[in-house]
Amino acid sequence: MMQLITLILDKLLALFPGLQPYPRVLQFPITGRCNSKCGTCSVPELAPDVDMTIERVRQIMQNDLFKKLQAIGINGGEPSLVKELPAIIAELLCLPKLKSIHMITNGMLTERILEITKEINESCKAKGVHFSLSVSLDGIEEVYWACRGVSSFSKTIDTIKTVVENPGTYCSSFSAGCTVSKYNVDHLAANDAYCAEYNIPIFYRLAVPNRRIYNMGYSDDFSVLTDDADRRTAMEFFFGKIVDRRCRDWKQKFTYYAIFKYLEGKGHVRLADCFWKWRDATVDELGNIYYCATESKCLGTLDGSNATEIFHSKENLDYRKELIKEHCEHCIHYAFFPSIKGAFSFLFFFLHLVLFPARYQMGRRFH
Ligand code: SF4
Repeated sequence: MMQLITLILDKLLALFPGLQPYPRVLQFPITGRCNSKCGTCSVPELAPDVDMTIERVRQIMQNDLFKKLQAIGINGGEPSLVKELPAIIAELLCLPKLKSIHMITNGMLTERILEITKEINESCKAKGVHFSLSVSLDGIEEVYWACRGVSSFSKTIDTIKTVVENPGTYCSSFSAGCTVSKYNVDHLAANDAYCAEYNIPIFYRLAVPNRRIYNMGYSDDFSVLTDDADRRTAMEFFFGKIVDRRCRDWKQKFTYYAIFKYLEGKGHVRLADCFWKWRDATVDELGNIYYCATESKCLGTLDGSNATEIFHSKENLDYRKELIKEHCEHCIHYAFFPSIKGAFSFLFFFLHLVLFPARYQMGRRFH
């Protein structure tokens, strides 16, 4: 409830020119290095071979812009390759309002990941911060290989199973994450069944063009939007997730609903709010700051004193308006909080489902 009130107050604040809210969530890709070769990402080839350092984190986080951060998403590249990762997290834990850290890893370096996540989890617990961990699992065996370009399924699954079998040891909460692309769209049910068998919670997202991971020029190769059969297969899968009675997680159901409608609208329907449109920030391994990771241009490079100035400059805020106008309606990133239109659409969908269940069973076949 408190979070909702904060959100509404921030949103109201954002309406007043000159009174911009401070970011509450930071996307923090801390390295341009990766040991995977995913078909949906060109970080290994095109991102700078650089890691974030403790000194840079310390310098950046001292700026007022970050004083209200409540949540930080750590990703990369592959964050477990960053030697100083536990020390970087320890530095982030000094932020006064921080409540949660979420880290995404490919799970390939099993021993290293288990060792550092255990340490990070302990540090987070000591500060009362929730540490959630997500390991990418785009498929089983050869499908995994087709998606990730490396044959490390057994290592990733060892990491996942060890974390799942030891709840509370490596993180406060865990999920596997599957990115849906042309490489795995025909195998999602098998992925789901495998995870159900081993009690692995798994969430699904769409592979889409994303500036941060340098894949803007070749989305035809991987996006299910560019092949009608693949788009329909993905729609059917997400529809199944929405109406799955075993799932009571309404937030998750909304995300699947937003993805389903996005696919149905061929990439031109957005039913979720995006906090990066009006409040939140992204900082990369070089200390460059952006609005969102998906589409934003680099706004500037942080030097410890200039973050607020860059983030809230008139020139950059004008640019953000352009970004919203050009891109947000065609974007499915960060689709976890409904817009007003999204909330009504979702509600209406379920009302319809309850009142006319047979129509939906038939409708599912026609998509
Ligand atoms: S382009 Fe996407 S991620 Fe970026 S601000 Fe818009 S909706 Fe959010």
